[in-house]
Amino acid sequence: MHEAFFAAGADVATTNSFVATPHHAGDRAVPLVTAAARCAQRAARSTAQPLPAMRKVAGCLPPLGECYAVRRDRSDADAAVYEQLAFALADEKVDVLLAETLTHSSEAANVILGVKMASLKRGYRLPLWVVFTLADDATGRLRGGERAAIAIQRALDAADGAGVLLSGVGVNCCAPGAVDAALADVVEVAEGREVIVYANAFESTTSEWLKKEGRPDCCGTPCRGNPREYVDGVMTPDAYARRAASWARRGATVVGGCCGTTPAHTKACRVLFDRQRRRSRFLGYLTFFVVVLAVLARALGPALALALAEKRVWDEL
Ligand SMILES: [Zn+2]
Repeated sequence: MHEAFFAAGADVATTNSFVATPHHAGDRAVPLVTAAARCAQRAARSTAQPLPAMRKVAGCLPPLGECYAVRRDRSDADAAVYEQLAFALADEKVDVLLAETLTHSSEAANVILGVKMASLKRGYRLPLWVVFTLADDATGRLRGGERAAIAIQRALDAADGAGVLLSGVGVNCCAPGAVDAALADVVEVAEGREVIVYANAFESTTSEWLKKEGRPDCCGTPCRGNPREYVDGVMTPDAYARRAASWARRGATVVGGCCGTTPAHTKACRVLFDRQRRRSRFLGYLTFFVVVLAVLARALGPALALALAEKRVWDEL
């Protein structure tokens, strides 16, 4: 699976260990995390596809209970589990730790404490990305109710206090429209760190699914996309790539796909990103060329005027 995404043009693979937690897997959690990290590393180092040196593996630090269940409390027990998961991932030399689909800043604080403990005990200094799941509406709020920007700022403050290198923040696992609504605030609070965005591709939103399950989570009207963007309930790769390209233009620096996306979505994003990059490079060259012309005109203009004046004098004589 990782190889399929890398072949489609991905730069980063997340370890396939989202449910490898004590809640879901009991004592098998850590061995499963280790195995998942090895699989991702093997695919990243594969020489079958171009540019293996550019590929990164992000070690998943997932929610520790049911996905989307809001965890509002600081918990030393949760921090101790994150410490174990961070150990296992760092032992396999992942490039970055990725705490994803978090619902609340307290959950991020548990992650940060766990990563800090892992660093202190084993001397790891891995960068951490913290990514929250948004409610599928246009409020810019997490499923736990905090505004995304406020939760991110709290995570940054907690990381500062703990001496943890929080090098990226962002949002994931939500409707693309929810990202559109929250992105400007996220970019502003990120202050130059990586801005990470990966949304879901399902036409029926997670909030609607949770409601059916008797677990209502969000505040406003669900953000549904244009029905023409979907086939069989899933956003088409081209439509998703157009959304992703707009996030990149608006300041997202790490853009990917969450639930419902496939290697075809990654490939469509890659094609569009490369085209966008070529276009901005061309505009850069064009600007440089115009500036050079302006400088030359300024430098040579007086000399040219003098030469013309001299010629006119000679002609008159
Ligand atoms: Zn997801």
